[in-house]
Amino acid sequence: MRPYQLDPLFAGVGALPGIGPKTVPLYDRLLGDAGHGARLIDLLFHLPTGAIDRRLAPTINQSEIGQPLVVKARVARHQPPPPGRRRAPFRVIVEDGTGDIQLVFFNAPPGRIESLLPLNSERYIAGTIELYDGYRQMTHPDRVMDAEAYARLPRFEPVYGLTHGLYSSGVQRAVNEALKRLPDLPEWQDAAYLKKQDWPDFRAAITQLHRPDSLMILGLDSKARQRLAYDELLAGQLALLIVRQSMTKAKGIARIGDGRIEAAILKALPYSLTQAQRDALSDIKRDLAASDRMLRLVQGDVGSGKTIVGLLAMAAVVEAGHQAALMAPTEILARQHYERLKPLCDAAGLNIVLLTGREKGSARQTALHGLVSDVDIAVGTHALFQDEVAFRDLGLAVIDEQHRFGVHQRLALGRKGDAVDMLVMTATPIPRTLVLTYFGDMEVSSLREKPAGRQPIDTRALSLERLDEVIEGARRAIANGQRIYWVCPLVEENEELDLAAAEERYADLEKYFGEKVGLVHGKMKGKDKDAAMAAFARGETQILVATTVIEVGVDVPEATIIIIEHAERFGLAQLHQLRGRVGRGSGRSTCLLLYKNPLGEVATARINTMRETEDGFLIAEQDLKLRGEGDVLGTRQSGMPGFRLAIPEKHGELLAAARDDAKLILARDPKLETERGQALRFLLYLFERDAAMRLMRAG
Ligand code: ADP
Ligand code: MG
Repeated sequence: MRPYQLDPLFAGVGALPGIGPKTVPLYDRLLGDAGHGARLIDLLFHLPTGAIDRRLAPTINQSEIGQPLVVKARVARHQPPPPGRRRAPFRVIVEDGTGDIQLVFFNAPPGRIESLLPLNSERYIAGTIELYDGYRQMTHPDRVMDAEAYARLPRFEPVYGLTHGLYSSGVQRAVNEALKRLPDLPEWQDAAYLKKQDWPDFRAAITQLHRPDSLMILGLDSKARQRLAYDELLAGQLALLIVRQSMTKAKGIARIGDGRIEAAILKALPYSLTQAQRDALSDIKRDLAASDRMLRLVQGDVGSGKTIVGLLAMAAVVEAGHQAALMAPTEILARQHYERLKPLCDAAGLNIVLLTGREKGSARQTALHGLVSDVDIAVGTHALFQDEVAFRDLGLAVIDEQHRFGVHQRLALGRKGDAVDMLVMTATPIPRTLVLTYFGDMEVSSLREKPAGRQPIDTRALSLERLDEVIEGARRAIANGQRIYWVCPLVEENEELDLAAAEERYADLEKYFGEKVGLVHGKMKGKDKDAAMAAFARGETQILVATTVIEVGVDVPEATIIIIEHAERFGLAQLHQLRGRVGRGSGRSTCLLLYKNPLGEVATARINTMRETEDGFLIAEQDLKLRGEGDVLGTRQSGMPGFRLAIPEKHGELLAAARDDAKLILARDPKLETERGQALRFLLYLFERDAAMRLMRAG
């Protein structure tokens, strides 16, 4: 159970004064996830992205132009719009003896301005001065304050990431209220280490970051930020080690196959394994044969052929007399796996069943009975580890697309048998640092080699100004019988605009190509989407205008060209996934990245990476450098507990220290019972790594 002292932090933000039923959903959107709405702890961990210097500028004549600042001045003159010209601005001239500034207000009720800036009053005005015809001018100041209000304004005003409808000032107030409710917590870090690093305690660190007294404190290497990053990393490493302990503690079972089923499957395959697949398989068989429990990650780019490796691993376990299960994150993937594996299993005499949430009634009963009797391999979704599911003798769990599952789901399947070996497969290539962070010392096999015969994709970048040429090129390609995906720009967090852009492009291309153009987007009904896809797959339409819905799972081998509009707006991982839609057949494929000038530094780096390589691993490493870890793992969509304060790539030395620290802690105090151990329990709950705590009690 979570220590009661932490309860207030896990209450919804609606508990705070000033946040009513209308605002709660905005905070939920900003800070909540699938499992919960926005809570106080989420607010506290929502660190400012920067701060505005609100210290007083020396005098008006010395104020910098184009920088946010605060000036102190006297209100000298009001200049309301002339009668009959309602759209003209209301101007207010303020001065301080060294110079003057025109404050400009559009559409402001005159009464409000007169009360905000009464003639002859002294005011503190925050905003940005611009030069206009040689005159200093400030359009819509951020704030206008009297002396008292200015005294209350923080000298460095934090700026927060927001969502439409929320304002930074509102978030500031909410954070301040949340800080008031932060309970006293015991110190979980080692006193000597804290002293050596000269780090503040948790409360001081989090307070300093929300009430910065300089711009530097918000840097990733400030003492306050490092302290919090370390807290988070230590919680993560402790949790991993606790999980790991409980898994290896149960002694493994040596599972040694005789190769007869494997041989039958290989014979039924229309291709031979790549060297990378063979290497991964021999790693796995070595693990299975050892008496330790296996915990191995197979990572390989999309299309590198992980499924067959998983099947052969399962075959080895069946040869040794046990059962195996393959768990996929979605219904669709589970079905696809089942359908692909069934013929191979039939050829090798393996009894395979499918179990997902959709199997009901007698089909479900048959599957459940099979699992306790003669089924060899079960394929399914998380339905596989529900309570009513029991296995005769589960020896191996293969988990596809690992990053979508949390640690506890992995464990739940592991408990369905005796010392179940674990094989985890992930399509998103995960860079080394992240493997360590998320999976601890799991063993890793990488499929870096793609099956033979895949043609390289010719990737080119072109300015959007050359759209005419692109359309001309599309015309030639179509005349040649080729098929084209045309992906439309992603507009941040705005599906409506996404859609508008796609529909506009569709209408545009229709003028050139008439009925040869199709459209597919996320808002279409499932049936219409299928129809649009099917028409493209059959070749009735040859250009498919799409939003990013095609990123997942679409497979039309005849498509050989993908045009990505406003490529500068896409992340690297996403571009890589999109490009993966072509190059699937025998034809030579092209990927055109259309970008808008001027191209920023990061966007240039991304596009160059895309042109230079098709290697998902290199791309993932580069993506991490350019973006931060959430996107690489896809955690933002999938809700795997990610990191909020630490950036593993940037806080690498801290990660290494946290690993050592965690090992030492558990070696000395395996059940976290000492005084520090008790304090560390608070840490685990605070960062929601408490699934590990349950294990510790169980074990
Ligand atoms: P992923 O790693 O993305 O899960 P899959 O296992 O789905 O990849 O394999 C992608 C495609 O490549 C499948 O159609 C599969 O049959 C094929 N494939 C797998 N291994 C090989 C190989 N060694 N040679 C040729 N094709 C292969
Ligand atoms: Mg796969």
